[in-house]
Amino acid sequence: MKSQLSSQPPSPPLAQTITVLGATGSVGTSTLDVIARHEHFSVYALSAHSNTALLLQQCLQFRPVYAVLSDEHAAETLRLQLIKAGSQTEVLWGADALTKIASDPAVDVVMAAIVGAAGLLPALAAAESGKKVLLANKESLVMAGELFMQAAVQSGAVILPIDSEHNAIFQCLPAPAQSRRGNLAGQGVRKVLLTASGGPFLHTPVEQLHAVTPAQACKHPNWDMGRKISVDSATMMNKGLEFIEACYLFDLAPDAVEVVIHPQSIVHSMVEYADGSVLAQLGSPDMRVPIAHALAWPQRIESGADFLSLVKSPDLQFLAPDLVRFPCLALGMEAAREGGFAPTCLNAANEIAVAAFLEGQIRFTDIPQIISGTLAQITCRQPVSIAMIQQLDAEARAVACDIAAGL
Ligand code: NAD
Ligand code: MG
Repeated sequence: MKSQLSSQPPSPPLAQTITVLGATGSVGTSTLDVIARHEHFSVYALSAHSNTALLLQQCLQFRPVYAVLSDEHAAETLRLQLIKAGSQTEVLWGADALTKIASDPAVDVVMAAIVGAAGLLPALAAAESGKKVLLANKESLVMAGELFMQAAVQSGAVILPIDSEHNAIFQCLPAPAQSRRGNLAGQGVRKVLLTASGGPFLHTPVEQLHAVTPAQACKHPNWDMGRKISVDSATMMNKGLEFIEACYLFDLAPDAVEVVIHPQSIVHSMVEYADGSVLAQLGSPDMRVPIAHALAWPQRIESGADFLSLVKSPDLQFLAPDLVRFPCLALGMEAAREGGFAPTCLNAANEIAVAAFLEGQIRFTDIPQIISGTLAQITCRQPVSIAMIQQLDAEARAVACDIAAGL
């Protein structure tokens, strides 16, 4: 008997027009790889910080209406190159241009894949204007989770998580929760199990961690990612940020989220139900899987990722996290419990500390010192507006820079 499953390709989703913020990064290029496999997506705009060479190539392949760069000079260079190549793409630059391409009425879907705090305002603009927002930029939720989710509720925006763990949780939630109706406990969800690979230093002797180099920290065992998130994975601050991200995204109390180390990165996270059932989402560690899921949701499309062979996979292990080895994870979890100003300041201090480590100015083990020192110096208050979030962010950055300079 011929299987119905294998003989029928997934039915094609409706045509969608997409802006990719951070198109030249790891998530951005994976997004364009998935888009290129399907005819019903058209690219409205692409953005990059400064990589004009790659953005030029992407503009010629995807023919967006707009390309956006951070700086005027780089934009002029790209504009001339595009004219020379006969392209119709218009080049814009700066923060207002990012907001424009994220909120333009012609756009259905926004992939928010800028790294760090720079991604907040354009991602928020997409949420405020009711887009389908594919959220990779976890920092925007960590900085401004409550305001961000409120904006989405008010505008009717759909926030689809791209972080593989949150995408996995989303896939394991009951359907009404996916559409943000009803509370999770009322739908039988007991807790969320957030998996973490443990990064490159899971088994490195703790006393050697002070001497690790940026190159070693950026060499993740399972994932190929940008440098900032790679260092975050090595300190496990990435899981701390994801812990906060999960609380805001799914409206969970911190006690309902448990971090589990799973070094193989095959189970991408799990949801435990009141009856003892645990649902997991598994797949190859390839960002094209969550990206394709979110692009097509609620349908399914091909992603280009390898299919998983569990028979050939290594043994799957699950361990409790060691908070002494990974103080950044403990700091992230504490900030989630504290709420209010704490996640915003944690994120800012972490960005400063990671940049200083990547520049060779501080040691790997200085990163948590800078973050805890910053949090201790900022007066706690509840951020009630984006202006206040930006003020807290700037204040925390200044304190973190001072601490880093004094080390
Ligand atoms: P990346 O460093 O590879 O790419 C970042 C992108 O943002 C680039 O296109 C860059 O040009 C742009 N950018 C950087 N600074 C900017 C600025 N100041 N203004 C405007 N644009 C700027 O990063 P990535 O690994 O693709 O990560 C992007 C986001 O996705 C991060 O928030 C990260 O935490 C999240 N994420 C990444 C992965 C992954 O596998 N790489 C997985 C989960 C979540
Ligand atoms: Mg992740």
